Amino acid sequence: MAEASRKIYMDYAATTPVDLRVLSSMMPYFSDDFGNPSSAHALGESAKKTVDGAREKLAAFLGARSSEIIFTSGATEGNNAVIKGIAMMRSIKWNEPQKMHIIASEIEHSAVIQPIERLATSGLVDVSFAPVDSTGRVSVEAISRLIREETTLVSIMYANNETGAIQAIAEIGALFTKLNACRKNKIYFHTDAVQAINYLDCNVGRLEVDMLTMSAHKIYGPKGIGAMYVKAGTPIARLIDGGEQEFKLRAGTHNVAGIVGLGEAISIIREYDKKNKEIEVLKNDLVRRVLASIPHSALNGVLDNSLPNIANIRFKGAEGEAILFMLSEAGVSVSTGSACMSGSHASSHVLKAMGLKDEDAHSSIRFSLGRSTTQRDIDYVLSILPGIIEKLRSISGWRG
Ligand code: PLP
Repeated sequence: MAEASRKIYMDYAATTPVDLRVLSSMMPYFSDDFGNPSSAHALGESAKKTVDGAREKLAAFLGARSSEIIFTSGATEGNNAVIKGIAMMRSIKWNEPQKMHIIASEIEHSAVIQPIERLATSGLVDVSFAPVDSTGRVSVEAISRLIREETTLVSIMYANNETGAIQAIAEIGALFTKLNACRKNKIYFHTDAVQAINYLDCNVGRLEVDMLTMSAHKIYGPKGIGAMYVKAGTPIARLIDGGEQEFKLRAGTHNVAGIVGLGEAISIIREYDKKNKEIEVLKNDLVRRVLASIPHSALNGVLDNSLPNIANIRFKGAEGEAILFMLSEAGVSVSTGSACMSGSHASSHVLKAMGLKDEDAHSSIRFSLGRSTTQRDIDYVLSILPGIIEKLRSISGWRG
């Protein structure tokens, strides 16, 4: 039976709690060391040093130069900034006669798809979406086939937020390096690495990316802060005007405490590598036991080439929203897809791109595990989930 007091969080892909070390690193910057890094006096100087210290931590983590790290309010802003920034530079500054062409995968987060679609419907760019296979992966060949002479930007996420599918970023990056050697119109390569940062190698040199975006609240840091890596020489126009901050690439008073928190979250991230292996064991156990104990359930995607913490499972004959609600009543927080899309009744564009029918996409649940997930949590979910699915199937009258 459900224990009413039980609180099990399995929605770490939506957001994570702030690590206590991160929180305490931030505290002095609210009321003691509260200076504005743009002020010329000592308090401002001190804040500037603090921001630059955090910038160095991010640069070290990504294998970049400090001057290539730009703080943003999060990955939604970062994604908008790189996409619109390249398009603005090309169409306004360079006044190129030919329309710029952008390639993205069909499974990008809406923070990538929507800015691209806005540019396309405004007539500023042409766009092609690369398909994925049934495991949720985009192939290098699928991208190659879409490349044109006027292709200027390619945006492929490092790992998908709904299924955990990891994309071959280094392989795709190597392709562009090779192609760019003999192209007049250079292809700039962006990856949304929001979900990958906790788990994967994010060295920008090895990935051969020109731009990478990330967000603090997915890596046990605070909400409202993120960063983008923009390789020196990448032609992007500033999205947010109003000041000279961030190497003139992003105006606005710095969120000093948030920046410190992001720096701290990044600098302790590799301490959790062992924990991440345990998370993967727990996820595999969850998947194996759910599929074994609930008939007509299936994993969306595969366990290989997938983040250690995300499992997306479909339950034929049961509505995802209803499963989510009943799990929530029993103290378990999960999601039906991306947090940003909840509230919309359209089925997941990610699952549909993988070939799922509407009804299967609607009967899917994302479990995303994290640093505090335990074996007891998995056991508890297994103790209630089969009953929930059975009940919903009997209500809907579904017969297998
Ligand atoms: N990109 C991906 C892959 C995400 O999962 C998210 C958050 O759900 C975002 C971008 C948006 O990030 P933020 O919440 O920092 O705006």
